[in-house]
Amino acid sequence: MKCRICRAKAIISLPQHNLALCAEHFDAWMLKRVTKAIEEFGMFSKEDKILVAVSGGKDSLALWDILLRLGYDSSGLYINLGIKEGDYSDESERLTTAFANRANAKLYVVNIEQLHGMSIPDKAYTKKRKTCSLCGVTKRYYMNKIARDMGFDVIATGHNLDDQAAALLGNMLFWKMDYLAKGAPYSPPMKAGEFAKAKPMVYCTEKEDTVYCLLRGIAYIERECPYSKGATSLRWKRALFEMEESSPGAKQAFYFGYVKNIDLFAGKDEKEDVPPLTCRVCGTPSWNEVCSFCSTWDLHVDEI
Ligand code: SF4
Ligand code: ZN
Ligand code: ZN
Repeated sequence: MKCRICRAKAIISLPQHNLALCAEHFDAWMLKRVTKAIEEFGMFSKEDKILVAVSGGKDSLALWDILLRLGYDSSGLYINLGIKEGDYSDESERLTTAFANRANAKLYVVNIEQLHGMSIPDKAYTKKRKTCSLCGVTKRYYMNKIARDMGFDVIATGHNLDDQAAALLGNMLFWKMDYLAKGAPYSPPMKAGEFAKAKPMVYCTEKEDTVYCLLRGIAYIERECPYSKGATSLRWKRALFEMEESSPGAKQAFYFGYVKNIDLFAGKDEKEDVPPLTCRVCGTPSWNEVCSFCSTWDLHVDEI
């Protein structure tokens, strides 16, 4: 297998693009894929301050590395969830910190256990809630808080094409209209205080992100979060993987066909309107007197 550009030995084959590339041309290709997503969806410019939500995994570290190489003003945010199983959270934090130090980039670290006296899984247990739902509320809150407090313009996450296509498949199977209205690679800021969210890795697959990290010598946490075991999204990923094997390009056609037609779902989202209230405790836009974050963590006015 030879690189289609220089005929040197190819290190990756990309059948969905009818392409094979050597290390050097694959690296350049990744930078182009990310640039394409940023420009096509008007995600941000070189003047914007970008907060990259990093988990220590390959996708978010690849994203941060690429943004820095492309000259974007980007800092990282790592949220330590306190997951002890296999030293998962602390190991992810170590890898993220090592990357930030090597890249000489600014990293914000939020430690949930230190701030709230309890880890995400422990809190979920006491509240009889699912760990992932509590995790989602908490991560969203801190992403917005750090972005607001530190003067960022946009939050970027490492979601790749596999993530987006799997979420789309799940939402389509069950016709979740509220989610189908907001699966775009870029969501502009909500009127009342939430931040713009960008997914610049949306043209790259998991496999491409893995190879990119290997080539760049980026050490990342290879294990999935222990709480992702049995997640439905993994089932949709497997189904799409099989489709992609027999019809290369199916995944990309599926997701970007949806993005082109996303207006079909606009206005079907009942929760699309701006939250009418501000949380009595933390002051962020909220559907109820106390927002879901503050009620989850049992916060009162004098604790925030
Ligand atoms: Fe949080 Fe892990 Fe669940 Fe993802 S899988 S939402 S990181 S607890
Ligand atoms: Zn080449
Ligand atoms: Zn609140």
